[in-house]
Amino acid sequence: MAASGESDPEGLCGPERAGAGGLALLGLAPSAPSCPHGPALLFVKTSQGREEGRRFYACSACRDRKDCNFFQWEDEKVSETRLAAREEYNRNHRPSFTHRQNVERYKNFVLLPLSKRRFCQECQQLLLPAEWEKHSNHQFLCDISTVQLKSPSQLLYPLENKKTNAQYLFAGRSCQFLLDLIIDLGFRRVLSVGTPRLHEMIQSKASQEEDFKVRSLLLDIDFRYSQFYTEDEFCHYNMFNHYFFGGKAARETCRKFLYQDNGERVIMVTDPPFGGLVEALASSFKKLMAMWKETEKEGQDNQEMPMFWIFPYFFESRILEFFPSFTMMDYQVDYDNHALYKHGKTGRRQSPVRIFTNLTPSMIVLPVEEGYRFCTICQRYVSSGNQHCEICNSCTSKDGRQWKHCVLCNKCVKPSWFHCNNCNCCTLSNHTCEKTDAGCFVCGTAGHKRSTCPSLSCTRAACQADKKQRQKTLKRIKMGICKRSLMKHAIFFRKKVKNKKKKQ
Ligand code: SAH
Ligand code: ZN
Ligand code: ZN
Ligand code: ZN
Ligand code: ZN
Repeated sequence: MAASGESDPEGLCGPERAGAGGLALLGLAPSAPSCPHGPALLFVKTSQGREEGRRFYACSACRDRKDCNFFQWEDEKVSETRLAAREEYNRNHRPSFTHRQNVERYKNFVLLPLSKRRFCQECQQLLLPAEWEKHSNHQFLCDISTVQLKSPSQLLYPLENKKTNAQYLFAGRSCQFLLDLIIDLGFRRVLSVGTPRLHEMIQSKASQEEDFKVRSLLLDIDFRYSQFYTEDEFCHYNMFNHYFFGGKAARETCRKFLYQDNGERVIMVTDPPFGGLVEALASSFKKLMAMWKETEKEGQDNQEMPMFWIFPYFFESRILEFFPSFTMMDYQVDYDNHALYKHGKTGRRQSPVRIFTNLTPSMIVLPVEEGYRFCTICQRYVSSGNQHCEICNSCTSKDGRQWKHCVLCNKCVKPSWFHCNNCNCCTLSNHTCEKTDAGCFVCGTAGHKRSTCPSLSCTRAACQADKKQRQKTLKRIKMGICKRSLMKHAIFFRKKVKNKKKKQ
C-alpha cells in the first residue's frame, strides 16, 4: 500500500482525484481491425460521464504505445494500401518461430548433452548448436538442466513493464497455497490464464510424482513459454480480447481441456495485469465460462465454471459489478518480484492482492498458521486483524488491519481515517477538504462536491434514515472512483492521437 496508508499503491483507482474526463471502453466490435495482438478494442473519450468525440480503436493488450501503437478512428476510411501495409506489419510482427516449430526445437534441445544446452538471455531463446554463431555476441546461460527447463518462469526474465505484461510471479508460499487449495477442493484440471508459475508447479509435479493427477493448460500472451510447452499445455492467448493466436486449433485445445470427464472438475485461475481494463477481462472470462458451459455434463445445470480471479482488493466493486456471484477472500497473495506486494509479517507492507471466487467462501480454508481464522457469523476465513463488526454484521476489513466503525458514515473505515465534518465522510487526517472548483465527483458538474451534490439529496440525517439511498449513493461513488484509471488511459491515448495525426 502507498506510503500515505492509502489503499491504492499504483494509483490505479481511488476516490481522491475525481475524474471529470476519461475513456470508456465500448468493447469488442465484430468488425474491429486487428493489430499484432488480435482485434483492437473500441473506445470513446468521455467528459462528465458523457461520450464525447469520435470513437476509436486501440490495441487491446498494450497500454503503452511503445509496445503497440495501433490506432484507428471508428469512422475512418482506411485505404487499400494502408490495409495491405497493416497486414504486412501484423505478419512481420509474428514470432520468428511458430509454436509447432518451438516444440520440435525443444525435442532436439533435450537430446543435447548438458554441455551443449544454451539459452540466449538476450533473445530469451533456447539455442541449438547451429545457432550459436548468430548469437555469439549475446549473453547466454550454459548447461541448461532439466530442472531449469521445467521452471521456465525462473529462466525467462519477468516482463515487468507495468503497462503491458506486468509479470509478477507468485512467491513459492502463495503458489503452493493455491495448488493445495485447488487439490483440497477436489479439482483435477486447472485453466491457468496468465499464471505461468502455477502452471509450472503443476506440470513439474505431474512429471515427477506418479500419483499426482492434476493437469493444467496455460493461456498467456507471453509467447516465450511456447518453447517449453506443447500445444496441449500452452495456448498463446490475449485475455483482453479473448483472442487465440493459434486460431481454431488452439481454441479447440482449450475447449477440450474444459470438457470434464467423470469427476475431473475444472477450475480457472487467473492473475491478470492490474492495470488491465476490468470490463475487457470480464468479457473474456465470460467467454471462457461459456466455453466451459458448452461442454456441459449432467449435474452442472445452473452452475458457473469455478474460478479464482486474483486481483487487488480495491477492485472489489468493479469485479462484483461483472460477477455478482463472486466473493473476495482475505488471503494475501504474495509475489517474488514485486517489492510492494510481499508478505507483511516483518512489518513490511502487506500485499493488497486477493482471491475473488464464485465458490462458497466457507470452503476456502485459509492457513491458520498465518493468522487467518474462521468467522462463524460470516462463514468465511478472515485475516487475524479483521474483526467482526456488530453494527455492519460482517468482518469489514479489506486490507487486513482492524477497521473501525464510523456511526456518521454508517460503515467501517480504515484505522487511519477520521470523520471530517467538512467533507461529510471519513478520510485521511491530512487531507485537503474537497474544493468546489473542480467538478463534482458524482454528477461531474462544477460548483459543488459530491457531499453536497443535488442529485443525491443526502443530508447526514437522511443518510442514516434511508439506508437504501445510501447504498445507491455508495455504488455510484464507487463506480465513479474507477474513472481515474480510465483517465490514465485517456492521457496516453490523447498523446497517441496527437502523434498519429502528425504521422499521417
Ligand atoms: N502471478 C502469476 C503471474 C501473473 S503476471 C504467476 O506467478 O504465475 C500476469 C501474467 O499475465 C503474465 O504471465 C503475463 O504474461 C500475462 N499477460 C499479460 N497481458 C496479457 C494478455 N493481454 N493476455 C494474456 N496474458 C497476459
Ligand atoms: Zn497491439
Ligand atoms: Zn465476521
Ligand atoms: Zn462497521
Ligand atoms: Zn475534510
